[in-house]
Amino acid sequence: MATHLVWLRNDLRINDNSALWAACRQREAEVIALFIATPQQWHQHDMSPRQADYIWHSLQLVQQALAAKGIVMHYYQCADFSASVDYLASFCAEHQVDALFYNYQYEFNERERDAAAGRQLMQQGIRVQGFDDSVLLPPGSVQTGSQKMYKVFTPFSKAYLQRLRAALPECLPAPAARATALPETLPALAPFDYPRAAFDHQQFPPGEAAALQRLRAFCRQPVLDYPEQRDLPALDGTSRLSVCLATGTLSPRQCLHRLLREQPQALEEGRASVWLNELIWRDFYRHLLVAFPALCKNQPFMPWTKKVAWQDNPDHFAAWQQGKTGYPIVDAAMRQMNRTGWMHNRLRMISASFLVKDLQINWQRGERYFMSQLIDGDLAANNGGWQWTASTGTDAAPWFRIFNPTTQGERFDKQGQFIRRWLPELANVPDSAIHDPHGWAKKNNQRLDYPAPIVEHKAARQKTLAIFEAARNAS
Ligand code: FAD
Repeated sequence: MATHLVWLRNDLRINDNSALWAACRQREAEVIALFIATPQQWHQHDMSPRQADYIWHSLQLVQQALAAKGIVMHYYQCADFSASVDYLASFCAEHQVDALFYNYQYEFNERERDAAAGRQLMQQGIRVQGFDDSVLLPPGSVQTGSQKMYKVFTPFSKAYLQRLRAALPECLPAPAARATALPETLPALAPFDYPRAAFDHQQFPPGEAAALQRLRAFCRQPVLDYPEQRDLPALDGTSRLSVCLATGTLSPRQCLHRLLREQPQALEEGRASVWLNELIWRDFYRHLLVAFPALCKNQPFMPWTKKVAWQDNPDHFAAWQQGKTGYPIVDAAMRQMNRTGWMHNRLRMISASFLVKDLQINWQRGERYFMSQLIDGDLAANNGGWQWTASTGTDAAPWFRIFNPTTQGERFDKQGQFIRRWLPELANVPDSAIHDPHGWAKKNNQRLDYPAPIVEHKAARQKTLAIFEAARNAS
C-alpha cells in the first residue's frame, strides 16, 4: 500500500485543500499529515505571538478534523527551515512515504526551503507534488500582453476579472473518510516554543468551521453594506477573515464561491464586487512576490526610493508604537493593534502613512513592527500595504500625495466614536474637538493627560517632500 504524506503549512483546513485532496485521490493509499513548527524562523520573520497562538489552536482542530477522515496528523518542532527539511526527510524514510503533497508558499525563504526539500526527497525516490492553493489564480497566470507581471493594480484586476469570468477556479470538498484504522491516541501537540499572547477567541475564533461560519454570514448581507462601511473603523463593516486567509483556515476560493452563491452578480460591477476586489488585491501582492522576489529581501519596489534619507528618531518611533503621537486617530489605531492584534484597513493606511510621511521613519521598521503585532500578519499583504503607503511600491499615485492624519480622522471617524474606544483620556473632549483635543483644551483652559502632537503636520509634510525630492533627483 502506498503512503502519501500531506505537509501542512499555511493551509490548516480539510475543505478545499488542494494538497490534501490530491493525496487522498488514490483510495487505497494510506494518507498521513505532518506539521513542522519552526519557532526560530518565526522569530526571524517577526511572527506575532498572537498569530502563533491562533495557529496552535487551529492545529488542534485540523488534527481532529483529519482524524475524523481517518488521517493521522503528526507534529514536530525544530528550529528553522533547514532543520525542517532534515526532519521531513527522516520522517519520510521512517514512515516509508512514497509521495509528498504540499501547497505552495510564495515567500522567498519558503520557496528555497521547498526547493531543498524537493531535491532531498527526490533523491530518496519520493514523488513530490506542489499546488497553487492560497491564491485564486496562480502567480504568473495574469500578465500583460508582453508576458510581464503588471506593476499597477487596476489593469491587473481588469485582466484578472476577465480570467475569473472565463473559468472559475474549482473549490474542492473535504476528502471522503478513509478506511485506515487510527491509533487510540493522536500525536500530542506540545505548545510552541515561542512567546505566547492570548487573543480574543470571540473575535478571531480559531479553526476552519468558525472561518466558514463567518464567511457565510458575511456574504449573506454585510458584504452588500461593505462599500459604505468598510472605511469606517467604528463599525464592524469588514469580514475580519484576514487571519483565516493568512493561516489557511480558509481559502480564497472558498471566499469566492460562497460570495457567488450568495451574490451571483459579484463578478460584474456592483456592491458585492467591492469585496471581491480586496481578494484580488491579496492575490496581486502574492503574484508580485513571485515576480519580484527581492520584495522579500527588504528591497523597495521602486529602486530610487532606496536613496530616501530616512530619519532615525527613537523617541518618535516609540511614540508611534505606543500610540502616543498626539494624533488621536493614529494613536487609537496603534492601540487597537497592540491590544487585539488586528487593525482596520483604513487605519493601517493612516498609521503607516504617519510613520513614513510625518515622522520620515523607514517603512521597513513599521512593516516589521506590524508583523510582530498582527494576528493576520502576512508578508505579501503587509509588505504591499507598507510599500503602497510609503510610495516605494506599486501605487499609481505620486509620492507627494500625503495623508493628513487630522482630516483623515475627521473624514472616517467624524464624531470620534472609534477614538473614544481606545483613548479614554479624551472622554471629556466634545465630539467637535476630538481630532484637535489640545486646541480645545487650550481654549477652554483644560488639562489633558494626552501627549501634544509630536510633530506639526504641515512642517512634517514639507520635510518629507524635500527628502523624497532629493532622492528622486539623486537617482
Ligand atoms: P476585508 O476588508 O473583509 O477584506 C477581505 C480580505 O481581503 C482580507 O481578509 C484580506 O485577506 C484581503 N485584503 C483586504 N484588503 C487587502 C489589501 N489592501 N491588501 C491585501 N489583501 C487585502 N492584510 C493582511 O492580511 N495581513 C497583513 O499583514 C496586512 N498588513 C497591512 C499593512 C498595511 C500598511 C496596509 C495598508 C494593509 C495591510 N493589510 C494586511 C491589508 C488589509 O488591511 C487587511 O487585509 C484587512 O484590514 C483585514 O481585515 P478584513 O479581513 O476585515 O478585510
